[in-house]
Amino acid sequence: PAMLGIIGGGQLGRMFTVAAKTMGYRVTVLEPDPLSPAAEFADVHLCAPYGDEAALKALGETCAAVTTEFENVDANAMRALSALTRVSPSGDCVAVAQDRISEKAWIAKAGLPTAPYLALEGADALAGFSDEALSAYLPGILKTARLGYDGKGQVRVKTPAEARDAYGELGVACVLEKMLELKLEVSAIVTRVSDAQSAVFPLAENRHEGGILDVSIVPARVAPALAERAQAMALALADALGYVGVLAVEFFVLADDTLVVNEIAPRPHNSGHYTLTACVTDQFQQQVRAMCGLLPGKTTLLTSVVMVNLLGDVWQDDGGEPDWSVLMEAPNAQLHLYGKREARKGRKMGHFNVMADSADAALEQAQALKDTL
Ligand code: ATP
Ligand code: MG
Ligand code: MG
Repeated sequence: PAMLGIIGGGQLGRMFTVAAKTMGYRVTVLEPDPLSPAAEFADVHLCAPYGDEAALKALGETCAAVTTEFENVDANAMRALSALTRVSPSGDCVAVAQDRISEKAWIAKAGLPTAPYLALEGADALAGFSDEALSAYLPGILKTARLGYDGKGQVRVKTPAEARDAYGELGVACVLEKMLELKLEVSAIVTRVSDAQSAVFPLAENRHEGGILDVSIVPARVAPALAERAQAMALALADALGYVGVLAVEFFVLADDTLVVNEIAPRPHNSGHYTLTACVTDQFQQQVRAMCGLLPGKTTLLTSVVMVNLLGDVWQDDGGEPDWSVLMEAPNAQLHLYGKREARKGRKMGHFNVMADSADAALEQAQALKDTL
């Protein structure tokens, strides 16, 4: 069987590896952590830094196709790998997604709205703006252009003085984004193989807790026309990027049902874990299909579903697991653990999905199950 390669061995790499192996491929994982979630399922574990040249060369020479689970993979490494094997997403697409400034520029280029923002690069970037000009973006969020996730690298600022101070303290390129009043947050996940072949999963409604995804509710409780609009926007963005692979698009829904693109991720997404138990094809099977140039699988939703993230916070102080007994007794719930050795606050340890007749019923039961942990 053909060997597939992935850069990154976290939970997304683990779920990719399981999907690929189930579909008959062998898998090589490039990941420096010897005890990573993906390593235990990999056929070959290249235990080396992500940027290690010899390991990247081995990945390119031994794999029929290479992907990433990790949005901060070195875009140049992806570009270099493409001389050796099929690489998706491309280094160029990964580069767009890992920098909020280029990300927002591409969203605009695709004709889609973002929150009003200022791109800030260099120590003097704010010097040219009067307090009045800055006020158009306030209250706002200063987000580092690179390397932020789970709400890290973000500072909420109310006044021009706060914005100037926070930018000085962060000391790196940022975007200052106007704080919008959100009715809801939703996401759409696209699988794109070529100009002619793409598919989009049903829209997920996402609730966050402390900047981290808490639950995804599917189908999103919005008008069907709004869901279709979001899906069409996500597909249009993937087209504009010439994207190959799985692309997640996060949206804000405003009070008047305007859809604003928040950000994209060049990989399967936490808000797509519901597809593992509720769709004809799941997002990791789609990643395998796209990287191999196969047709995307059908994205039909088979049941309403709610996904609940399990963070290290629900583990005991001594590292002991929560009591899963009530969850395990629910015939319509499925627990999924990522095999991480150490639970830390805010660390994604697993999730569970609850399948029910309606999104509301699934949400109610999911909440009750979470409360037992
Ligand atoms: P992720 O883990 O999804 O990659 P991130 O650290 O990249 O997160 P964002 O998605 O930019 O961060 O923001 C995290 C959350 O903060 C959003 O899901 C939303 O709830 C809130 N948020 C971000 N930007 C805005 C905004 N302009 N207006 C209102 N709320 C916002
Ligand atoms: Mg992000
Ligand atoms: Mg986000």
